[in-house]
Amino acid sequence: MIKQALLSVSDKTGVLEFARELNAMGVKLLSTGGTAKLLTDNGLPVTEVADYTGFPEMLDGRVKTLHPKVHGGILARRDFPEHQAALEKHGIPTIDMVVVNLYPFQATVAKAECSLEDAIENIDIGGPTMLRSSAKNHKDVVVICDPIDYATVLAEMKAGNNAVSYDTKFMLAKKVFAHTAQYDGAITNYLTSLGEDKAHTTRSAYPQTLNMHFEKVQEMRYGENPHQSASFYRDLAPVVGALANYTQLQGKELSYNNIADADAAWECVKSFETGACVIVKHANPCGVAIGATALEAYNKALQTDPTSAFGGIIAFNTVCDGAAAEAVAKQFVEVLIAPSFTAEAKQIFAAKQNVRLLEIPLGSGVNQYDVKRVGGGLLVQAPDAKNVLPADVRVVSKLQPTPQQMADMMFAWRVAKYVKSNAIVFCGNGMTLGVGAGQMSRIDSARIASIKAQNAGLTLQGSAVASDAFFPFRDGLDVVVDAGATCVIHPGGSMRDQEVIDAADERGVVMLYTGVRHFRH
Ligand code: 5GP
Repeated sequence: MIKQALLSVSDKTGVLEFARELNAMGVKLLSTGGTAKLLTDNGLPVTEVADYTGFPEMLDGRVKTLHPKVHGGILARRDFPEHQAALEKHGIPTIDMVVVNLYPFQATVAKAECSLEDAIENIDIGGPTMLRSSAKNHKDVVVICDPIDYATVLAEMKAGNNAVSYDTKFMLAKKVFAHTAQYDGAITNYLTSLGEDKAHTTRSAYPQTLNMHFEKVQEMRYGENPHQSASFYRDLAPVVGALANYTQLQGKELSYNNIADADAAWECVKSFETGACVIVKHANPCGVAIGATALEAYNKALQTDPTSAFGGIIAFNTVCDGAAAEAVAKQFVEVLIAPSFTAEAKQIFAAKQNVRLLEIPLGSGVNQYDVKRVGGGLLVQAPDAKNVLPADVRVVSKLQPTPQQMADMMFAWRVAKYVKSNAIVFCGNGMTLGVGAGQMSRIDSARIASIKAQNAGLTLQGSAVASDAFFPFRDGLDVVVDAGATCVIHPGGSMRDQEVIDAADERGVVMLYTGVRHFRH
C-alpha cells in the first residue's frame, strides 16, 4: 500500500497527471524544487523535500535529497523490526514510491558547444542514488525512472487498493539498474573521449573505454547454425527507424538469421525516397525495385532472381496493401516487413500463420557505432551513412548520360551499397537485373551478375551497372559492356583510372565517378 511518494524529475512529461492521480488516491506527495513548483502551481498539495528534511537544497542543487530522512525512508526493510525501530527512533516515515528521471547528461554532451563544466554540472548525483536505493529495496518500494510506466503503475494501484504487484516492482527495479548503468556508461564514454586540453570541447567520437548497454529481447532456438546458442539484444533506446523497433504481428518466432537478413532488407528499402521493395537472401539483396504501387515494386523485384527469392525476407517502405500481400502470399516467404499493413493484407496472411509479419516505423536514425567482433576485441566505426546525390557525381567519359541512364545509375549505386563486396549490380527501369555479390574478385562478381540476369530471362541491353569500388583493370568493365551495359557508375580512384576511362570511351559507354566507396563485408 503506497502512502507516500517522492517525485523528482528532469523530464516532466506526464508527471503532473500522474501526481494528480496519486493525490486522488490519498498518496502524500514529496518533491524537489522544480518538480514541486510545477505540482503546487497546478494546485496539488506537495511537501518540499527541503521542508521535509529541515535542510535546504544546497550547492546549486548538488545536494537536494541526499539525507537520511529520505534514504532511511526508502531503504528500511519493512519486515525487519530493527529497521522499523530505527525509523521510529529518528522520526523517519517510509517512502513507498520514488519517481525520478535524471539530468539529461547525454543530451547535454551531444551539443557541440558543451564544455567540460556543463557536462559535469549535468552529472546527476542524488537522482541515481534514490533510484538505486529504491531498486535495491524494490520489494517494498515502487520505483519509476521512465514516464512510460506511469500508466501501468496507476492501473495496478486502482485495481488493487493502492498496491503494486511484486512482478511489476521487480520489472521496474531491473529497468532502473539498466538505466543507471547506461547513464554511468555515457559519463565514462564522454570523459574518456576528451582530448588533452580537457577544458575545451575537442573530443574524439571514440572513448578510451567503451561502455555500451543493451537489453535482451529474446533468446533464440539457435544462432547462425544449430550448434550455436544465440540471443538478440537491442539498444536501451534504439534510433528512430531501426529494425529493433519492430512489432511482430504474427508468425513463428524470429530466428538469428531472420533478424540479420531482416535488418539488411530494411536498411536497404528505407534508403529509397519513393515506394520500393527489397528481397534479401543470406544478407544480400537478390531483387530490388521501385514501383508506383507496392505490388508493382514487388513484381519487379521478384523478377530479378525468383529462384533465390524463395524463402526470402521481403521489405516494403510503403504500406503493404491487399494486392501486394496477395502476390507475396503466393511465394514461400520467411519474413515480411512494412511500415504498416492494411486490414486486408493482415487478413490474407491470417491464413498463413507461419509467415512472420513485422511492422517497423520508418525513420532515418543511424546507430552511433557500427561494431564488428574480432578475436579478443571489437572493431568500431561510424556507420556507412553516406548517400551520393546526382550533384555529387562526375562524368569522366566523353559520352554524357541521358536522364534515364542517370536515374538507372543512381538506382544501381543505391543498391550496390547494400550488396556484399565485391558488388556488381546491373539495373534498368527502376529494378535490379543481375546482382553479383561477395566474390573475391570484381570480374567474377561481374560475370556472375550477368549469368544470373540471363538465367532469369532478363536482357542487359542498355542496362546500367554499379560497382561498389573502382575497377582495378579494364577487364571488369569489358565484361559488363559485353553483357550489354551502356553506363557504369563506380567510385574511381584506381592507379589505372586512365586505362579504365579510355576503355569506356573506346567501348562508347558512359562512366560516372562517385568518389565514394561502399565496401560491405
Ligand atoms: P527539480 O526539477 O525537481 O528541481 O530537480 C529534479 C532533478 O534533480 C531530477 O533529475 C533528480 O534526479 C535530481 N536530484 C534529486 N536530488 C538530487 C540531489 O541530491 N543531487 C543532485 N545532484 N540531483 C538531484
